[in-house]
Amino acid sequence: MLRAGAAVTATGIGAALGCGLLAGCGSTGSPSATGSARAATDPTRPSDPARNGPPTSRAPSPGSAARPGPAPRRFPGLPEQITHGPRDRPQVALTFHGHGDPATAKALLTEAEKAGAKVTVLAVGGWLDEHPALARRVLDGGHDLGNHTLRHLDINDMSEADAYAEITGCADRLRRLTGSIGTWFRPSRARTATPLVARLAHRAGYPHVLSYDVDSLDFTSPGAPAVTRTIATEVRAGSVVSLHFGYADTVAALPAVLQELERRGLRAVTTTELLT
Ligand SMILES: [Zn+2]
Repeated sequence: MLRAGAAVTATGIGAALGCGLLAGCGSTGSPSATGSARAATDPTRPSDPARNGPPTSRAPSPGSAARPGPAPRRFPGLPEQITHGPRDRPQVALTFHGHGDPATAKALLTEAEKAGAKVTVLAVGGWLDEHPALARRVLDGGHDLGNHTLRHLDINDMSEADAYAEITGCADRLRRLTGSIGTWFRPSRARTATPLVARLAHRAGYPHVLSYDVDSLDFTSPGAPAVTRTIATEVRAGSVVSLHFGYADTVAALPAVLQELERRGLRAVTTTELLT
């Protein structure tokens, strides 16, 4: 079980490292810039989807006739913001910012599957607009699929209405594509959510916010060996590792990362399995 003290400590670190310095999930930068521009001008949507309110109104498309994806769960005893799982079981969760070149995404999923690993994909809503088939692709591989906001803006710095629209806008797309709003919510450009954003996520249907305790820094493109080294140094039983689709270093590093986990007897599982 998680200790509240550990979560608070990680939150403090997240707040210190949070926004504005680098370009990954935990800060401002390029991964979101193109996605937001494209999402904002998506010609297939008649009105600004971010203003449509709660994800309750859209009927499932014919494509979602398949079994609905898993719904979010509340994990009793776990904090509102989850940074890691139990430290006494040899499992970790590799979690990916879902954005960028779909070929990179597919390569990472395939590589993980070859090694028998399951991952968690936090999808950006605008990215799902551009590559809707990837939602099912993730679920079909046995992975977790979650919500990483509609446009990957600095959600902790937005008004209540705008932040809520970012969460529900992505939830809406996940529901349309998979029949579920996805099992997890992770804030954009921040390691942890502010109390307001956590409350809004809860209102949108996500009992927990998914943070992480290991930042691979893959989005800084430090070279694959550095990505592997960072993870190998910091990962331990129960860790939730932050990674990104869309970066060549991540693709190049993943086989070595998976080998290192195997060498240490750590199994890569979905976040749901990590916490169950
Ligand atoms: Zn991100």
